[in-house]
Amino acid sequence: MTRPAFVLATANKDKAAEIEAILGSQVDLLPRPGDVGEVDETGATLEDNARLKARSLVDATGLPAIADDTGLEVDALAGRPGVRSARYAGDNATYADNVAKLLLEIGSTPQRAARFRTVVVALWPDGREIVAEGVASGSIATEIRGSQGFGYDCVFVPDDGDGRTFAEMGGPEKNALSHRGRALRALQAHMSAEAIFTADSSDAAGSSPGVEVTPTLKRKGRGISHILPRPVWQVGRLLIVALLIEYLVVPQLAGPRKVIHLISEVNPLLLLAGVGLEAAAILAYGRLTASILPSASRLRFWTIVRIEVTTLSVSHCTPGGSAAGTALGYRLMTQSGVQPGDAGFVLGAQGIGSAVVLNVILWVALIVSIPVWGFSALYLLAAGVGVVLLGLSAALVYALTKGEQRVGELIERLALKAPFINAVALRRAFGNLARRLAVFGEHRDVMGRALMWASLNWLLDAGSLFVFVGAFGHWVNPDGLLVAYGLANVLAVVPITPGGLGVIEATLTTLLVGFGTQRGVATLGVLVYRLFNFWAPIPLGGITYLSLQVDKPGPDGSKPWPIRTFRRLVRAPHQSDGDGEFRREVANAKRPESGAVDPLT
Ligand code: IMP
Repeated sequence: MTRPAFVLATANKDKAAEIEAILGSQVDLLPRPGDVGEVDETGATLEDNARLKARSLVDATGLPAIADDTGLEVDALAGRPGVRSARYAGDNATYADNVAKLLLEIGSTPQRAARFRTVVVALWPDGREIVAEGVASGSIATEIRGSQGFGYDCVFVPDDGDGRTFAEMGGPEKNALSHRGRALRALQAHMSAEAIFTADSSDAAGSSPGVEVTPTLKRKGRGISHILPRPVWQVGRLLIVALLIEYLVVPQLAGPRKVIHLISEVNPLLLLAGVGLEAAAILAYGRLTASILPSASRLRFWTIVRIEVTTLSVSHCTPGGSAAGTALGYRLMTQSGVQPGDAGFVLGAQGIGSAVVLNVILWVALIVSIPVWGFSALYLLAAGVGVVLLGLSAALVYALTKGEQRVGELIERLALKAPFINAVALRRAFGNLARRLAVFGEHRDVMGRALMWASLNWLLDAGSLFVFVGAFGHWVNPDGLLVAYGLANVLAVVPITPGGLGVIEATLTTLLVGFGTQRGVATLGVLVYRLFNFWAPIPLGGITYLSLQVDKPGPDGSKPWPIRTFRRLVRAPHQSDGDGEFRREVANAKRPESGAVDPLT
């Protein structure tokens, strides 16, 4: 296995050192040949400029190249200097000139929010490319602080840090938080997904020496499997197989003739009611989020619901998906304007709260139902998982309250040993979370409301199962239904399949049959329930994600058209310019007026 090699488009020593520190362990970065001239950064966007730089290097050397372009977007200056950051104070401006002009222009305004944005383009000689973006949000300091770094580092205080400017941090610390670090790690992740780092060099025949090109990247434009990133395609394939098994094979097990008879007798109004209850359950979860969200981070209710459906979609597509879903939820919330600390607190609190409420529902249902229905071995398993779940929640709450000092120090010590983690910032975030939890604990009314919405979320979802089974002609005893429902959802926490796929279906059907439901009715009721509870949010989440991206506010409060945060394009050589033109036209055509009414709210 050889390491892939890329020419580095930048001749800026500061930037090159940062890129080398992040990517250097996995790729060979060749310096820009001295005889290749500077590229005029005439592009309208950072991406255009990064591509121009990469293209000029690829054309000059015949080798793959990596280029980046960075802009500082200052809210008080309506997003300037942005793409003109290098030439902000004039064509031959120095870093110091630019910083001086920036401080002068924003003066003493209290509105100091700003963000660095970096777009990285990896471009191959045959036109294939990977584009990644990284953003670091922060604020402009009132005076110059620190002597490390370069450019605007001495006046930029990242939100995720501890109040120091980038110029007051060491290189690894800055890289862990910076726009460039984030963009390069995203690029790295995408390259890993494409197996750029692991390709067999024999396959690179015909490409540049030392450059590895994977078979997937070589075969261009042949079918959907080559358009989608490999993991997405693999998971998608598995989900399609699961969907086919669930809806074509499972009903056969319940007896095809009986099933057809039951379907023909189904009550459509009850089906509709089931869908309504499922939608109401989602809205209740949205209310739960809204009830915990601190007032400084208020979001429109529909934005919350769209974020929630998007995260559901992701957690239904990945094993152990709630972690991926929560991470995306965090990103979407902060992207929509929620303070990072608030987003972490809300996601953590509602996750813990929801798990506790589910267990309470299960235990109450068990206590009521065991004397009537007797005991099943499955209860023991679920009780075990439930106890572990509650134990973990309790440990987390303890760590965040009474043990804050000790656990915080431990986290900081461990983080100091890990690369790319800002231990101080992590410790601070942990402390913030703990303080918020303490304040939350004092507001019994808020906590009560949150518990009510969490309970309603579970009960409405269980209600939809109840009604779907009822639609096929059998009303399950409510206590039996809640036992089946609680057990299935507690067991689904074990991250074997995404969203408990298969686990929930098998547990629910078995127990509903145990509680006296006919097998055919239980099977169909559960399948229809899962159609709306598990499958429907997957495509719906795609739509809500896109709508959130369209809706994303720009630095100047306008609403741009930026569905391009993290994209990989595989296309024929020399198409890039045309495509760029096309996307700019789309941007112009679709950009709603600033302040236009959001069609989704
Ligand atoms: P470039 O076009 O990517 O070279 O970046 C434009 C300008 O942004 C540079 O001239 C720097 O002044 C500034 N800049 C780029 N990256 C950083 C950074 O990481 N910290 C501070 N300033 C930066």
